[in-house]
Amino acid sequence: MDLFEHQAKELFAEYGVPVPTGKVAHTPQEARAIAAELFAAGSSKVVVKAQVKTGGRGKAGGVKLADSADEAETLAGQILGMDIKGHTVHKVLVEEGSAIAQEFYFSFLLDRANRTFLSICSVEGGMEIEEVPHDRLAMVPISPLEGVDRAKARQIAEQGRLPQEALDGASEIIERLWAVFTDEDATLVEVNPMILTADGDVKALDGKVTLDDNAAFRQDHEKFADKTADDPLEAAAKAKDLNYVKLDGSVGIIGNGAGLVMSTLDVVAYAGEQFGGQKPANFLDIGGGASAEVMANGLEIVLSDRDVKSVFVNVFGGITACDAVANGIVSAYKLLAERGEAVDRPLVVRLDGNNADLGRKILSDAGLDGVQQVDTMDDAARRAAELAAGA
Ligand code: GDP
Ligand code: MN
Repeated sequence: MDLFEHQAKELFAEYGVPVPTGKVAHTPQEARAIAAELFAAGSSKVVVKAQVKTGGRGKAGGVKLADSADEAETLAGQILGMDIKGHTVHKVLVEEGSAIAQEFYFSFLLDRANRTFLSICSVEGGMEIEEVPHDRLAMVPISPLEGVDRAKARQIAEQGRLPQEALDGASEIIERLWAVFTDEDATLVEVNPMILTADGDVKALDGKVTLDDNAAFRQDHEKFADKTADDPLEAAAKAKDLNYVKLDGSVGIIGNGAGLVMSTLDVVAYAGEQFGGQKPANFLDIGGGASAEVMANGLEIVLSDRDVKSVFVNVFGGITACDAVANGIVSAYKLLAERGEAVDRPLVVRLDGNNADLGRKILSDAGLDGVQQVDTMDDAARRAAELAAGA
């Protein structure tokens, strides 16, 4: 999970990393009130920053300085609702403005290729890291067993060629960011820019943190979840314990087993090219069990996506044999009809594997409306794409 800048900074502050004082606003009026507080507390400028989970906000006009509370309100009005690289701005961070003497780059990340942690530090900051010439970057591997103490932090800052007057402040920040990185189970902690102020202080002016979702069980990271961004269908699926990801095509997909569903997406996308570019509408793995109830819940979620024009149910019978899955589909139809959500779009079913013949017979004997059986995965994908195109 990626954090918003304001969340990253709240985390930094907990670990003693200096950040500018500020608060989040959802409306221009709130921004005005926060700015007024900051001016009253002695700020000579405030900065209004779009909160979206993408970089380059400055360039896109999402970071603006204001000289008065009035101006902060106007700027917030312009920034809220803005689209930055496909992300709509729903909130802004209003902060005391910093007088910047110099901007640096710093990050810790998981270097998968080299199976270690890495820190990157440069005296050149503010711009995208990709734009910094390689010979101006220090890339220092970090042993997870040794970690980063103050001395190591200083070495990193020196290798990044930070100026003498920033070394004390920067090494303190780097040591604390290492604590953020490890204690919070992050895979990325980036500060761009880390600044030296006109007063000689070093601060984190921006923050980007990616938390490792695999460690969620031992962390308290639920509080960072962005409820507004969750797709409503994904949220409904999660509530039903379904492994569903919304995509933007027209062919609904239900399968058992993540690997099978992944390859189903590929096969449907490929087949769909012949039918005006039909694509999979979702990923949904109903898992090994595939009871009638799970099948009904899955169908309900997939069909509540109005972009779905046909559904491809792709099942390879294993421990849960095809006859059980077929019975699941038959019962799911009844269940959904009782819930007032009768299946109203064509279903292409491919059953293979354990007890496939029996499963197919059960389905055809049931004579469900709109259900067609196709024996192979490729043919079934083609049929589903064709139905989606014709609808
Ligand atoms: P990003 O563009 O999404 O990375 O957003 P940043 O938070 O890094 O801000 C972009 C740039 O805006 C920074 O590199 C600074 O040059 C500038 N900036 C941000 N906050 C302040 C501030 O308080 N004072 C001044 N003078 N410039 C700022
Ligand atoms: Mn930045």
